[in-house]
Amino acid sequence: MAEFDYDLFVIGAGSGGVRAARLSAMTGAKVAVAEEYRVGGTCVIRGCVPKKFMVYASEFPHMAAVSEGYGWSPSQSVFDWGRFLGAKDKEIARLSSIYVTNLKNAGAEVLHGKARVTGPNSVEVEGIGAITAAKILIATGGRPFRPDGLPGIEHAITSEEAFHFETLPKSVVVVGGGFIAVEFAGIFNGLGVDTTLVYRGENILRGFDDSIRTHVAEEIQARGIKLKLDTRHTRIEKTDQGLVSHLEGGAHLTSEVVMFATGRKPYVEGLGLESAGVKVTEGGAIAVDTFSRTNVPSIWAVGDVTDRINLTPVAIREGAAFAQTEFYNNPTHFDHEMVASAVFSQPPVGSVGMTEAEARHAHGKIDIYFSRFRPMKETFYGGTERCMIKLVVAAEGEKVLGCHVVGPDAPEIIQMAAIALKMGITKPQWDSTCAVHPTLAEELVTMRDKYVAPGLSA
Ligand code: NDP
Repeated sequence: MAEFDYDLFVIGAGSGGVRAARLSAMTGAKVAVAEEYRVGGTCVIRGCVPKKFMVYASEFPHMAAVSEGYGWSPSQSVFDWGRFLGAKDKEIARLSSIYVTNLKNAGAEVLHGKARVTGPNSVEVEGIGAITAAKILIATGGRPFRPDGLPGIEHAITSEEAFHFETLPKSVVVVGGGFIAVEFAGIFNGLGVDTTLVYRGENILRGFDDSIRTHVAEEIQARGIKLKLDTRHTRIEKTDQGLVSHLEGGAHLTSEVVMFATGRKPYVEGLGLESAGVKVTEGGAIAVDTFSRTNVPSIWAVGDVTDRINLTPVAIREGAAFAQTEFYNNPTHFDHEMVASAVFSQPPVGSVGMTEAEARHAHGKIDIYFSRFRPMKETFYGGTERCMIKLVVAAEGEKVLGCHVVGPDAPEIIQMAAIALKMGITKPQWDSTCAVHPTLAEELVTMRDKYVAPGLSA
């Protein structure tokens, strides 16, 4: 009789957990995955995928406006939120069922219920009971964080509820300046909702290159978002007129909805980590090494619950590396360097590698290649929207350290640039690539002159 019920027990059927479970089960290992909600995790159920559908839905009014400059007379179009929601939910259900099928086809069992670790080799699944496993992988992701001490915070929603509005609000105040805040502000604004973005810092998208931050802040305001920087809430009050956001300094804003997009925290509540002695970091994430091992030799963790780089493809790679190491006898760890990221703001952002500030700090002397211009689609009809591209290059050796793009298709463009940067491309190699014409991306390989910011000498 086998010593344990399973070779591998995975907690959480999101991006990281599903990949690890599927690959491990394909070796013939006995694998089970427990999921308390729906298979697919944040990305598929209430994150990247439904968000992208909402971005698509919200882009049409802008496209219609632009189309007039191209000779179209767009007829009066009406958006039916309910119809969109129905189609979105149907597609999410289809994708979730594909995840279930893939797990089953690989030979993994899916158990529905919240799992709790009860020891180094044991878990308890709600409604199912005690289970033992040789290895346990925790992949429970994250949950939205709201500053609990703020009076009236219970009236505010997070992005999770925004996927299920019964009717589209007429006005919204979005709080935060990160990925979710900027993306959702763009969605609401595009759908015609009166949108105010309130951020506590001096500019949105902290952590991104400063040129991106300035450019996006300008462009989203040009699209109609009201941006309030250096602004904090003191309380939220529910009134007959709507929710009143009281702000530091005495100002206030009234809106139908207040959405807090103030970060996400590793989801470790009720996991029983203390029963097995699994260590967590100060920030509440499960502490792991480069092979995603916790301090307990039979327990691993991948994805957002470890708070390394909180992106779906990273969780997938961490899960795959775990499976390779533990079930394919092929020690593998995911390299967290040069991971590209995209913000699906309107216009969107693509970014990989170092920001200008990081590169100056790390390399001292660097060269910047920078361009801000109106793409041909805009110039044709007299549009004012600009793109921005920037390359950060080490002065010595001319290695390209960072590439930053804002404009249509920036996320698609950056995926390709990321390959080159990951391979350590130099600026002369980059420039030897022939342009693809007429595109926005061609500007990336035709920037010959070093950029000197106004007021700075080279
Ligand atoms: P982020 O960490 O990106 O941003 C959180 C924002 O909330 C920051 O602007 C932060 O300000 C602000 N904030 C934090 N605490 C408070 C507070 N108490 N009061 C007011 N403001 C506060 O988190 P998100 O929620 O936007 O996204 C979570 C994660 O999800 C991201 O880290 C990202 O990895 C992932 N994600 C990725 C997407 C993509 O790849 N396109 C899309 C959506 C999410 P400050 O900057 O001052 O700290």
